[in-house]
Amino acid sequence: MDKPGIPEQVEDILIVGGGPAGYTAGLYAARARMKTLMVEGESTVSQITVTDLIENYPGLPEGVNGFDLRERFRAQAESFGMRRATGDVTAIAPVSWGGTSGWRVTAGETTYDTLAVIVAAGANWRRLGVPGEEEFIGRGVSYCATCDGPFYRNRDVVVVGGGNTAVQEALYLTRFASRVILVHRRDRLRAAGVLAERASAHPKIAFAWNSVVQAVEGKDFVEGIRIQNVRNPAEVRVIPAEGVFVFIGLTPNTDLLVGIADRDANGYVRVDPDMRTSAPGIFACGDCIQKLLRQVITACGDGATAAYAAQLYVEDLKGEAY
Ligand code: NAP
Repeated sequence: MDKPGIPEQVEDILIVGGGPAGYTAGLYAARARMKTLMVEGESTVSQITVTDLIENYPGLPEGVNGFDLRERFRAQAESFGMRRATGDVTAIAPVSWGGTSGWRVTAGETTYDTLAVIVAAGANWRRLGVPGEEEFIGRGVSYCATCDGPFYRNRDVVVVGGGNTAVQEALYLTRFASRVILVHRRDRLRAAGVLAERASAHPKIAFAWNSVVQAVEGKDFVEGIRIQNVRNPAEVRVIPAEGVFVFIGLTPNTDLLVGIADRDANGYVRVDPDMRTSAPGIFACGDCIQKLLRQVITACGDGATAAYAAQLYVEDLKGEAY
């Protein structure tokens, strides 16, 4: 039921981003009979869609493909009435209707008005920032093993990074590549124990420890990377490889909240335990918030909490609090 003064087209809850956090928020909000719209990015892909195998989602011991799981999330949210639009959200600004405050969300040429916003915009892959990296994107440099791995059948590839993503993707790349050399700036992996054990035992995976990338080298296509030993800076060498896969962490997609809600020094949104940001009516969840563990399951949990907190906020605004 709309409160007098709130135009009919105003959404109760608008969700920014179509990953596990956003879809779970959408499922919970729509099931609570909130008028719910998701705006999904045009130029960004949810990380889950390029994850070949998720083996730590409880209840699915056989593992599940990330794209398939996201499709299931989508169907479930839509079955309860969540609607979707496509667009890159660039701004969120305050608006009010006869004393009721809400938010105007801009995506390209389109604006949407809503009482509450849930930002579930995720995070993008961080770049190395070394010479050759930008130049060779699409010609040997990649940030997605699922997308580009098959191009490297029987070739040598390098993976940069030591976290869960780097190790998981290095293991995936062994299906195609003849050799995977994992370059990490420390002498041990950050990745979870089981992944580190599998990588260490894998006959196709070799390690270049204590090494940072200085440059990606090649003529028309990548031919190798130049690395430097951080313990012995005079030790610089080139690892010949046709593919360079970079998995060195994430940059949160939170620029749309600059000047609106608090973020930490790395750009992650600060939220309270109920996913409220510092801006009343704006909630955030998933990989874009400041937290310890970024997983599908934690994103889903955050999304459910954000939706419920947003529901209570909207009901309070409308004078419908139970
Ligand atoms: P991450 O955990 O932040 O690890 C990034 C890795 O890249 C670290 O090893 C880091 O080195 C290294 N690194 C960072 N900047 C670098 C630079 N400029 N040059 C060289 N190396 C650099 O990131 P992630 O692996 O992408 O994972 C992101 C999140 O998703 C994490 O929370 C992760 O647990 C989660 N995830 C989980 C799974 C799973 O559970 N199966 C799979 C994928 C992702 P240092 O170690 O020295 O910091």
